[in-house]
Amino acid sequence: MDLYEYQGKDLFRRVGIPVSAGRLATTPEEARTAAEELGGPVVVKAQVLTGGRGKAGGVKLADDPADAEAKARDILGLDIRGHVVHTLWIEKASDIEREYYLSITFDRGAKKPLFMFTTQGGVEIEQVAEENPDALVRLHVDPLAGFQPWVARRLVYGGGVEDPSEQKQIAAIVERLYRAFVEFDAMLCEINPLIVTPEGEVKALDSKFTVDDSGLFRHPDIAEWRDPTAADPIETFAREKHVTYVKLDGDVGVLANGAGLGMSTVDVVAHAGGRPANFCDLGGGGSAEGVVDALEVITRDEQVRSIFFNIFGGITRCDEVARGILAALERLDMSRYPIVVRLDGTNAEEGRRILADAGREDIHPEATMLDGARRAVELAGAAA
Ligand code: GDP
Ligand code: MN
Repeated sequence: MDLYEYQGKDLFRRVGIPVSAGRLATTPEEARTAAEELGGPVVVKAQVLTGGRGKAGGVKLADDPADAEAKARDILGLDIRGHVVHTLWIEKASDIEREYYLSITFDRGAKKPLFMFTTQGGVEIEQVAEENPDALVRLHVDPLAGFQPWVARRLVYGGGVEDPSEQKQIAAIVERLYRAFVEFDAMLCEINPLIVTPEGEVKALDSKFTVDDSGLFRHPDIAEWRDPTAADPIETFAREKHVTYVKLDGDVGVLANGAGLGMSTVDVVAHAGGRPANFCDLGGGGSAEGVVDALEVITRDEQVRSIFFNIFGGITRCDEVARGILAALERLDMSRYPIVVRLDGTNAEEGRRILADAGREDIHPEATMLDGARRAVELAGAAA
């Protein structure tokens, strides 16, 4: 789950990373009041779950409350890379002497958290990595040893920070960022820019924070921050039903058991000249309950024209899946959807017989994955 800037900054504040005072606003009038309360110049910042807001006109300085109201009027409703601005973060403006970059994320290859730091902040980190790779310090943390003070020192010295007060402040921020990363089950914590003010104070001017969905049950306060309007409604429904589902933009609904087979099925549908409507992993079991839930999710997508069940029975038994499909068809109105079923592996014969005995015209058995995909694509085309 991606957090908004103001939410990430809230977590920064909790671990002691310095951030500026600010207020939320959803109308120009609220922005004005916020600026009055904060006093002095403010920054009006679009709260959207995408980066590059500055370049897109979503971050603007305002001299006084009236200006803040005007800037809020400009930014509210703006479409930033497909994200419409409904909320603003009004923050006390900072003077910037220098802009640095600090992040921690998982390096899946190394199976360790990875810190990245550079004094060339403010721009996209990919750009620094490409144009000035020596300026980017990368350092892994051994998760068993945990955070050690030398990690912070090596980042700070490696990045070429010379001022002792700055070194000390950044080292403290590095340690606190690690704490935030672990404590809040984060996948990514990024500060860009981490600024130095003319007075020599270091603070986080921006926040990009991703919390691991699988860790959210440990953080009910963070889970509550999820913004249902920012998520795809079908994916939200899938999450409620505990169905593993990713929406795609085609018309062939795909159900497979196992993530690997699910992804292969998506590929094979594309290979057969079709467009998958989704990725959906039925998981183990294949119970009627699981099939009903998955079908309910998939058929919420109005683009779906046909459905392709691709099941390879290992622990999952094909006869159980076949019964699940029939039970699901009894409980749901699936009359709009031709269903192609390919069963292979454990108890496949029995599964096929169960489906054949049901004598339903809307079920189309196929023997192989490729034939199944072709059939589903053909049926989707005929239904369109
Ligand atoms: P992003 O474009 O989505 O990464 O949004 P940021 O929060 O990083 O803001 C973009 C840029 O706006 C920053 O890199 C700063 O240069 C500038 N900015 C943001 N807040 C302030 C501020 O308080 N004072 C000044 N002078 N500039 C700011
Ligand atoms: Mn930024």
